[in-house]
Amino acid sequence: MEQVNILIIGAGVVGLAIANQLSQTHADVVVVEKEAGFGRHTSSRNSEVIHSGIYYPQNSQKAKLCVRGNQLLYKFCQKHQVPHKKCGKLVVANSENELAQLKQLQQNGIKNGVQNLQIYNKQQVNSLEPQIIAEKALWVPATGIVDSHKFMQKMVQLAEQNDAFVVYDMEVVAIEKQDSGYVVEFADGEKFWCKYLINSAGLWSDEIAQMAGIEDDNLQLHWCKGEYYKTNKIRDINHLIYPLPNPSGIYLGIHLTINLNNEVRFGPSAYYTDQLSYKMDESAKPEFLAAINHYLSLEADDLHLDDCGIRPKLQGPQDTFRDFYIAEETKRSLPRFINLIGIESPGLTAALAIAEQVEGFL
Ligand SMILES: Cc1cc2nc3c(=O)[nH]c(=O)nc-3n(C[C@H](O)[C@H](O)[C@H](O)COP(=O)(O)OP(=O)(O)OC[C@H]3O[C@@H](n4cnc5c(N)ncnc54)[C@H](O)[C@@H]3O)c2cc1C
Repeated sequence: MEQVNILIIGAGVVGLAIANQLSQTHADVVVVEKEAGFGRHTSSRNSEVIHSGIYYPQNSQKAKLCVRGNQLLYKFCQKHQVPHKKCGKLVVANSENELAQLKQLQQNGIKNGVQNLQIYNKQQVNSLEPQIIAEKALWVPATGIVDSHKFMQKMVQLAEQNDAFVVYDMEVVAIEKQDSGYVVEFADGEKFWCKYLINSAGLWSDEIAQMAGIEDDNLQLHWCKGEYYKTNKIRDINHLIYPLPNPSGIYLGIHLTINLNNEVRFGPSAYYTDQLSYKMDESAKPEFLAAINHYLSLEADDLHLDDCGIRPKLQGPQDTFRDFYIAEETKRSLPRFINLIGIESPGLTAALAIAEQVEGFL
């Protein structure tokens, strides 16, 4: 049986950030991934936004790790030439009621330590984005965009330079606790022994926890799909444009993002699903059009299907805010087993800060 010091399950952005971090100071780090390459699920199916941390409750893991992760990610991208842009974003308000919410959002961001938040008037918004309809907007300069594929590719490269391995086509199917560590079994029958086991399996992280013997309804994931549409009609947008967060508390509202080629897309929407399917049809187009026309002027023919992703949410349809679950499980008699469950947005932004936190458990 192969013996390793640290076994990380999942080569998404979070598992790779942990591998990059731990391989700098620990020997014998291995990432196992069930797919044939890294980032084949949520980490390559997102908005690629470097979030600022304005939305999350004060002192939540999401708030702290987002604010810290934002700083670490910009530094990482600069140091390692990962394509990115600190373009900033505008959260628009078009009524008195929305302006009150905008001010609350600004205060929340300030409490979370987000710098330089300002409420802009119509003229200021127009001078930045003439095509956007907004009476007022919250200007968030810390927000940006990143090439998530290049970010993950660089972390694989750095981890491998530190003698870590990322091994593909290895699906974990069983975990057995032993006195000194864990025996992890793969779909082909192979087994690895490891001293530390890190569950960074994204959409399947609750199943991995169950394999280790954790039966906890509170850690059951709810999959929540988000779809995107793109357009060629609008050009020359240089900032991200967001509505106020959706009152359901499930997502941020259908927003406008640009990528590093200045292409415009809208989304993601949010609806719960049991299916792992990345198929889309046009049934959500009216919902998109209504949301977009709150801050722009577009017609149905201007919108084309783009892509979609699935959020691994701890928050179920009837729940209020749920935080990331990041824990070393000695309290459940599973020492050196580290669980990362419910790492939805802002997980891409927070990845490097999550990796720091995980290192603290070792
Ligand atoms: C629509 C959408 C938009 C988003 N937008 C943003 C954004 O703009 N900014 C932001 O910061 N965050 C965003 N996020 C969140 C962000 O994408 C995620 O938090 C992040 O990608 C999670 O990374 P991960 O490594 O935890 O999970 P994943 O990328 O899902 O990686 C987990 C890996 O584990 C592997 N795995 C699972 N089970 C097993 C097993 N049994 N054996 C071996 N391997 C296994 C999977 O194959 C997968 O590769 C968004 C998410 C969605 C869905």
